[in-house]
Amino acid sequence: MFVLKNMGHQKGPLWKGLISQSITRPQDLPESFEIDAPGLEDVVSRYPMRINPYYLSLIKARGDAIYRQCIPELDELVDQRGVEDPLNEDGHSPVPGLTHRYPDRVLFLVSSRCPVYCRFCNRKRKVGNASMVTEESIREGILYIRSQKEIRDVLLSGGDPLLLENKELFHILTEVRSLPHVEIIRIGTRVPCTLPQRVTPQLAGVLRKFHPLYILTHFNHPDEITPDAALACGRLANAGIPLGSQTVLLKGVNDDPLIIKKLMQKLLSIRVRPYYLFQPDLAKATAHFWTPLRKGLQIMAGMQGHTSGLCMPHFAIDLPGGGGKVPLLPEYVKDADGDSLLIRNYLGREHRYPLYSEPELNESWHKKGEEL
Ligand SMILES: *Cc1c(COP(=O)(O)O)cnc(C)c1O
Ligand code: SF4
Repeated sequence: MFVLKNMGHQKGPLWKGLISQSITRPQDLPESFEIDAPGLEDVVSRYPMRINPYYLSLIKARGDAIYRQCIPELDELVDQRGVEDPLNEDGHSPVPGLTHRYPDRVLFLVSSRCPVYCRFCNRKRKVGNASMVTEESIREGILYIRSQKEIRDVLLSGGDPLLLENKELFHILTEVRSLPHVEIIRIGTRVPCTLPQRVTPQLAGVLRKFHPLYILTHFNHPDEITPDAALACGRLANAGIPLGSQTVLLKGVNDDPLIIKKLMQKLLSIRVRPYYLFQPDLAKATAHFWTPLRKGLQIMAGMQGHTSGLCMPHFAIDLPGGGGKVPLLPEYVKDADGDSLLIRNYLGREHRYPLYSEPELNESWHKKGEEL
């Protein structure tokens, strides 16, 4: 529908040109979208908009899956359900910009900017606001990680860490990698999906110095898997970086078994392993994306057995208030008696599976459990 402008005249890397040509004001949106510009001014003054020309070019029609993810809606201000900080990230934050919820890992925000501001973002209270991450907050975050020896896994997030300059990223990764107790580093980023041009050979060259390093990216619809996205993911995979996707189930975007199955299959074809499929968080200004919990379970049941196990993410909810992530499974166990389970397989047929209850075995396991 839209054609990328020729940016041959731009100095510097292509991705910076794409960022600088992003649409940030409702009146600059294409006329064919027939938006209510004055109404949306209020929305974007509260929750910023940014749509770079690459992501805009993926929209095929008003209201389609890509459109819904990036074009603001009046509902964002009208629907008052949800809370600003649904996972209580700020409450579990020993220093600003870092959340330490689980014993062995932390979430560390290192950038306040994203290539597109997703309308469903669970951190929309913060993204695009420069005070979300500062040089000071990054310094304090690193000091905190240094002081807590039980942290063996650091998840860099934001905003999008890959919108930092290569040298800023290099600096943060060098600091974190220098801590002996940090075993793995993860980067949560939508760049391979929303601005794949950012994944230059130079960036891949920086990242590969910090193994073991994992990238968790975030694709929500098969139309996002383009030749540009495939090139970006291929560059990262060729740099030895395992790639996972954290997809969010969104009404009007991907709440359909066939769309999710196709997405998961296409992700594998660009070497991205599905990791999580999240039920949307109960964040304020995102209620128009919420889906019934049942739907996610049905989608998972519809994939299991019908396509490769590698396609299967964990379907999970993140408990409101900071209770953490919990995986949910469709009901496969129909009944249990003393000796066996009655189990439904992927075709809906029932089978029995013995429990093998051996008293001696149970006892020795119990002892082992006590020793641990
Ligand atoms: C999601 C999350 C993590 C990482 O969780 P994994 O299940 O290990 O991927 C860590 N910290 C916080 C606060 C999170 O929200
Ligand atoms: S890229 Fe991630 S952090 Fe940024 S707006 Fe989208 S969902 Fe939120």
